[in-house]
Amino acid sequence: MKRRSTMKLIKDKTPLKAHCAAYREAQQAIAFVPTMGNLHNGHLRLVEAAKQKADKVIVSIFVNPRQFAPHEDYNTYPRTLEKDYETLSKLGGVDLVFAPSASAMYSADCDISIHLPRLETILCGASRPHFFSGVMVVLAKLFNLISPQFVFMGEKDFQQLVITRELVKALDFPIEIISVPTVREPDGLAMSSRNQYLSAKERELAPVLYNTLKRVAADVAASQVFSKKTVQQAKEALASLGIVVDYIEVRYASDLREIKEGEVVSRQWVVVGAAVIGKTRLIDNVLSG
Ligand code: AMP
Repeated sequence: MKRRSTMKLIKDKTPLKAHCAAYREAQQAIAFVPTMGNLHNGHLRLVEAAKQKADKVIVSIFVNPRQFAPHEDYNTYPRTLEKDYETLSKLGGVDLVFAPSASAMYSADCDISIHLPRLETILCGASRPHFFSGVMVVLAKLFNLISPQFVFMGEKDFQQLVITRELVKALDFPIEIISVPTVREPDGLAMSSRNQYLSAKERELAPVLYNTLKRVAADVAASQVFSKKTVQQAKEALASLGIVVDYIEVRYASDLREIKEGEVVSRQWVVVGAAVIGKTRLIDNVLSG
């Protein structure tokens, strides 16, 4: 497979569309990796996977205002475009980085919303009601601008992955969503741009979320039956460490449907969790085999 000359940095929609049209004209398949930047090895794993799959690789770096509530960290979210550009240049194989400003992405009168009512109101959506609608709007716009054949997303944000698959299906985007397993620090903490908000003490404690979800998964895997007691014990264990649990749940993986007390699990399931350590909200999950 070819590899590129220089990586383009594009900040506006018009040249982005022109480049993508030229790729299509030349019959080159496009793989797209949407991100909010502040790139870490989790993001880079997606880029590596994208490079294997298509002729052209596009990475977007955009902190999407529509997925943040006023009290959340939109203004302080780490923005490191120069460093990210350098990281991707060094990695090689990326053809184009799309890094628009909020005003380049959204016209002032852009008033659309997209909803998947069941999926966007559960789990993270219960405490972040604006979040998935904002994600869906930006992804729909990016998918229309780029027309990728493949989009690479992390299992780390499991609900986002399921919702994106549903969005693609519901709106008939001719796109294959390819998921990539979560990349972790040596102690098990899932890599995330928000980990840098943790104090040294909180950082030491943080892997307990993953370890606790793994314990729940081991229980369900051993019994093949879902019991609320296991989840309750996991929540109590985290609470006893001063961690504020948002949710820990076991759901079916493909559609995030609930599993009832005592139900024998019948298809792939996932233990999903979100918890606040200090001021930092972390999410993680463990997928059944
Ligand atoms: P973000 O920049 O946080 O919006 O993430 C952009 C993409 O990278 C999403 O598809 C995430 O699921 C994915 N991602 C973030 N962290 C990880 C990780 N630790 N391992 C794998 N993928 C990740």
